[in-house]
Amino acid sequence: MAVQAVLPGFGEAVEIKEGRSAYPALPGTGPEGEICKTCKHSWYHEHSKRYWKCGLVQATHGSGTDIRIKGPACRFWEKKR
Ligand code: SF4
Repeated sequence: MAVQAVLPGFGEAVEIKEGRSAYPALPGTGPEGEICKTCKHSWYHEHSKRYWKCGLVQATHGSGTDIRIKGPACRFWEKKR
């Protein structure tokens, strides 16, 4: 089951899966204006396209652990160097 959350400042609904999630914390709970792309924990593997993951979550080969790279940061966000 999934729930939808509309995050302040972004105006779009983000699907949050209950139980196992691609995110270690709720997107939008991080620093204002920051996104997963600017976080040191984001990474991707590439096949025909890039599949972005969060390094703080055990990745699977499925889409269930894909993150939205332009989505708002969660509270575990850390600046990418
Ligand atoms: S902000 Fe960072 S820690 Fe949080 S979900 Fe995105 S990549 Fe992972």
